[in-house]
Amino acid sequence: MESPLERSAEEGVAWHGARGSRSIAVRLEGERRARLRLGERSCTDPSTPPRCGGFLAPSSTTTRGDEMGQRARILTEIFGVRGWKVTDAFFEDEKGQVVFPLRDFALMPSVRLVLRVERQWLPRCSRCGTACGVGGHEKLATRRWADLSWAGRPVQIEATPIRVRCKKCQAAPVERLGWSDPHQRQSRRLQHHLALQAASMPVLHVAVQSGLSWATVRRAEGAALARWQAGRTATPLRNVGLDEKWLGRRHKLVHKFVTIASDLDTGEPLWIGPGRGEDTVKQWLAKHTKEQKAAIVLFAADMHEPFRAAVRGDPDLAHAAFVHDPFHLVKRANEAVTEMRREAFFRAGPELRAVGRGSRWLVLRAWERTTPEQRERLRVLFSYNPRLGRAYQVVDEYREVLRAPDRDTMAAGLARILRRTQERQNVPMRKWHDSIRAHLPAILALGEHRPPAGRIEALNNNWETLVRRGRGYRDHQYLLLKLRFMVVNPIRTETGIKRFLALGLPAPMKNAA
Ligand SMILES: [Zn+2]
Repeated sequence: MESPLERSAEEGVAWHGARGSRSIAVRLEGERRARLRLGERSCTDPSTPPRCGGFLAPSSTTTRGDEMGQRARILTEIFGVRGWKVTDAFFEDEKGQVVFPLRDFALMPSVRLVLRVERQWLPRCSRCGTACGVGGHEKLATRRWADLSWAGRPVQIEATPIRVRCKKCQAAPVERLGWSDPHQRQSRRLQHHLALQAASMPVLHVAVQSGLSWATVRRAEGAALARWQAGRTATPLRNVGLDEKWLGRRHKLVHKFVTIASDLDTGEPLWIGPGRGEDTVKQWLAKHTKEQKAAIVLFAADMHEPFRAAVRGDPDLAHAAFVHDPFHLVKRANEAVTEMRREAFFRAGPELRAVGRGSRWLVLRAWERTTPEQRERLRVLFSYNPRLGRAYQVVDEYREVLRAPDRDTMAAGLARILRRTQERQNVPMRKWHDSIRAHLPAILALGEHRPPAGRIEALNNNWETLVRRGRGYRDHQYLLLKLRFMVVNPIRTETGIKRFLALGLPAPMKNAA
């Protein structure tokens, strides 16, 4: 039988043959290479290590003795997909014509490397993984898959898959391919690589860098993230966080907000729904069985009434506690301070405005987290307006109260806060006072249940990052996957980055062959 190696060599020569004097050199080069591929001269060539006794261990991928040449064996090892061997490798230009490299001449950067691969063992069903045997199969057309580039050169995998007849699942799917998922035209490791890149830079940058289109990179990223998510085990949901998120000024869709349900124990977002009404939350709750709902201990949300109404309106969730999370409670208190700061410095003439300029974030910062210079600045600000100083103190005390270890301590602390904010002439403080009164039961429940809150910060930060850059706010499913991936694989520390690069996605070839 004619080897595919010889075939490609001949094709290459035929193509170059049309180009006059260079053709002879090309033909000689092609013939020499074809012989080398067949392993005839591999031992006599001084630059090639000997077949045995050298540093190349006998390959485990060879099943038929020495039939596979050394070159093919090395290529198979580099290709690295279990159960598949490289039977041919050749260069090809953009028009699909085979190109042979000449000594001392570099190939054009656009020339790609094509690896022709064949199955070594029995074909397997791509649905259930059962070995199917070759009986009753149907041979399909030869196809190609984009793979990771090799030394900066684009690589394509070429194979001729078959359609198997699976006895176990009674279906006739295309056989399982070691490097790619069904219906994909890219290898898993290429998708993995693109997804990791897209996690720290815009999809457009990844597209330009890899010479692919934006849509291709986006699809590859989506496929890799979906595979990552599918390989994870779900943990039972106990503490739920409900949050409304603004999609940013730029977007012009029907819903300006989305609701995110998250697992408070892991900080991981679980679901994103359009809008922030009672119906949105009900939609999500409807996805859960009675048993799943029975396992839920607590809901933590901001002071948005529809969330409470949706949870309280569900008879299966009567046992679950509903609390307001400290993050939003402090945010509400800070609104009062911000409003007072505006009144004190910005509506009171140019001199005071000069004093108050640039203090917006300073007055929202907890005292314990300020530097000596910032404390001095705060003292100066409060000397101009003692009322703002008192408000700052009350909010600082409120932060402390929200950390109370039990319900009684919290009740006593809140009573103190309410006394200090009841002055009716101070409008921002009075509004805050009224809001605490209105939500008192859910704030006190916080003291009783103490939901884990630390991990939600990661979700909030990642949300800001994604939406500020305008990523994915049109496709909620993609946004959710991306958020989950970012929350589970934080890259803020050196160890985090190492883990992200190593384990962020499952090993691409884990389920090969
Ligand atoms: Zn099957």
